[in-house]
Amino acid sequence: MTGAERAAREEMAALAASLFARGFSVGSAGNISMRLDDGFLITPTNSCLGRLAPERIARLDASFAHVAGDKPSKEVFMHRAFYAAREDAGAVVHLHSTWATAVSCLADADAANPIPPLTPYFVMRIGRAMPVVPYYRPGDAAMEPAIAEAARGARAVLLANHGPVVSGRSLTDAVYAAEELEEAAKLFMLLRGEKARLLTPAQVDDLLATFG
Ligand code: ZN
Repeated sequence: MTGAERAAREEMAALAASLFARGFSVGSAGNISMRLDDGFLITPTNSCLGRLAPERIARLDASFAHVAGDKPSKEVFMHRAFYAAREDAGAVVHLHSTWATAVSCLADADAANPIPPLTPYFVMRIGRAMPVVPYYRPGDAAMEPAIAEAARGARAVLLANHGPVVSGRSLTDAVYAAEELEEAAKLFMLLRGEKARLLTPAQVDDLLATFG
């Protein structure tokens, strides 16, 4: 194992523990992956993000075959969909975080963009839109092409009645984006029924031109 891979494993375990400690995932929910020069790292199946042993994180080759560490998450196909769809994806975070999952359960959500632009930080981290991928039974193979199609036009997607899948250029980028998404979802739910002032399309364009 290279020094770079060892450092990546340590970083993944530390960020996962931080997400768990703050309640972004519970039990064995959630999984995290990152791209290496010649493959991927992904959290093991049935592992708790709060207690990952760096050396047991699953190692996949460039075609997603398991080559070392514990058995990969059963949700590995979500990550594969993002890496296939987005060259810029260096890491992917999938959570069942409470507020984003609440938005994923709204019957009247805008499927193209369920969280409106309330603050600049959501726009800066997630981009212009985050499409909703329709509900699929966990493990249904049809979910992978649906995620890949949605991910071609967005850095993050929201799986209906399930939770968010968020990509970033680096592992820290993806984790920060997942955290920002959860905060935006919380604000959106708190403001439902209130007359909220949204960022205008021109303000969103200006943010994306400056930070996008
Ligand atoms: Zn899940």
